[in-house]
Amino acid sequence: ATLPYDDDNVFARILRGEIPSNRVYEDEWAVAFHDIAPQAPVHVLVIPRGRYVSWDDFSERASVEEIAGFVRAVGKVARDAGHVGPGYRLLANTGKRAGQEVGHLHVHIFGGAPLGPMLA
Ligand code: 5GP
Repeated sequence: ATLPYDDDNVFARILRGEIPSNRVYEDEWAVAFHDIAPQAPVHVLVIPRGRYVSWDDFSERASVEEIAGFVRAVGKVARDAGHVGPGYRLLANTGKRAGQEVGHLHVHIFGGAPLGPMLA
């Protein structure tokens, strides 16, 4: 079961511009910005504009249009924005047990250099 969405989560506040972020891309569906504690030479987070707690929540409730818009945005960021590509890794921690800390869906994009083997 997914927890209810909390409008005071840090990424909601970044979306509203209440907390500054280093944005590399934004469109109708998504906003992308640099992670504050990068775990790769380039580490960007992509979030949907809609209020979704997690990948579980988004994949169940979002419209086909929102899903397509978000997936396209992730691809654009990975290819064209923020010095991510070519070659990158996507990650979406889902739920506390997987290490999700912020309750607004975010896809991590790691890149900026050849990446080593994936760590658990
Ligand atoms: P999670 O563990 O939920 O998958 O990832 C949360 C990510 O958000 C972490 O990599 C963390 O460094 C990043 N983060 C947390 N607070 C902020 C913030 O205020 N600004 C930015 N840009 N990133 C943040």
